[in-house]
Amino acid sequence: MLQLNENYMKLKQSYLFAEIAHRVNDYVAANPDKKVIRLGIGDVTKPLPQKTIEAMHQAVSHMAYAETFKGYGPEQGYDFLRERVVEYYKKNGASITMKDVFISDGAKSDTGNITDLFGPDNIVLIPDPVYPVYMDTNMMNGRNIKFMDANKENGFTPMPYEGLEADIIYICSPNNPTGAAYTREQLKEWVDFALKNGSLLLFDAAYECFIEDPAIPHSIYEIEGAKKCAIEFCSLSKTAGFTGTRCGYTIVPTELVVKSSTGEDVSVNAMWTRRQTTKFNGVPYIVQYAAAATLSEEGIEQCKANIAYYKENAKIIASCFENKGITYFGGSNSPYIWFECPNNMESWDFFDYLLQNAQVVGTPGAGFGKNGNNFFRLTAFGDRDNTIEAVARIDKLLS
Ligand SMILES: *Cc1c(COP(=O)(O)O)cnc(C)c1O
Repeated sequence: MLQLNENYMKLKQSYLFAEIAHRVNDYVAANPDKKVIRLGIGDVTKPLPQKTIEAMHQAVSHMAYAETFKGYGPEQGYDFLRERVVEYYKKNGASITMKDVFISDGAKSDTGNITDLFGPDNIVLIPDPVYPVYMDTNMMNGRNIKFMDANKENGFTPMPYEGLEADIIYICSPNNPTGAAYTREQLKEWVDFALKNGSLLLFDAAYECFIEDPAIPHSIYEIEGAKKCAIEFCSLSKTAGFTGTRCGYTIVPTELVVKSSTGEDVSVNAMWTRRQTTKFNGVPYIVQYAAAATLSEEGIEQCKANIAYYKENAKIIASCFENKGITYFGGSNSPYIWFECPNNMESWDFFDYLLQNAQVVGTPGAGFGKNGNNFFRLTAFGDRDNTIEAVARIDKLLS
């Protein structure tokens, strides 16, 4: 008889954004004259950089002529883009090689797909709260999930401790949703832990482009030894506004070697190559060509201008909580501001309170894990005038 993968039935309904939309729609229907400002979205709003668009047009033209037309490309991505990724890492002081780089259709797919390579009995350590994809993809595969508490006490950057058992460890820094980021010293502790215990770090660097503090690494490979114990995921989604264009990169260092149950040394890079060449046919040429232009000197400058705009929004939002003495995280090195709900309010109650009294929409922390119950996320991806107005309303409401 046909059997289902019943792990899917154990998944919690992903109701967070649906529930937010539902509550906002109800409010708008009942209050058509009120202007609602949305600072809940985790999506960018600025268009693609000029350099990216120009290259994309060129690549479309390449597809029009037999001499420059491209069919199937290499599953790992075109060398012209892998090379640019290597250069980009070099700028951040991390040395990787082209062979370590796999071009992907984004970090979300690969953070989920990577679970293919590892056995079912691993202990998978996931921070709470965090980006829900890590938990859900491991649930789908029936993995043995353990949570580590990220909270106000540890600054939302939980650390390894004596007696911790974990084979696969997810780290997202700067973090979604908390905006918290690990320092070099903290990441070194994680790398040392992984090397000592034979664990694997899965490092999500999706927000590295927001980092301004030199104490915070952009890549796990800035830490010595990381190439022997870490895989890194990144994408152009937040760096360059590629959320709808789809292009990312996953770094699986050739130095990452794991012993099989029969004692053989196995290259994880070779396994991932095998996985990708079997299950993936690469990112569209047009997108990769545009991505390569995005990672040129000029492209990066244009990306930085957009990021600076979002970061200014983040500062405007953060200053409101700073002035009120409300505990918050993020706001710098991140597009997210994660603050403690006033008067011990639960995050969904605060959501309603903010919507009804200030017409501002944010994201309740409870949607990211139990440690988010009393926290709330605002994002800096909106436009400047709306951000300023939303902050003024919040300021007034909480005074
Ligand atoms: C936005 C985001 C990503 C990027 O996902 P893409 O699939 O590349 O768009 C990855 N990780 C986290 C934590 C994110 O918030």
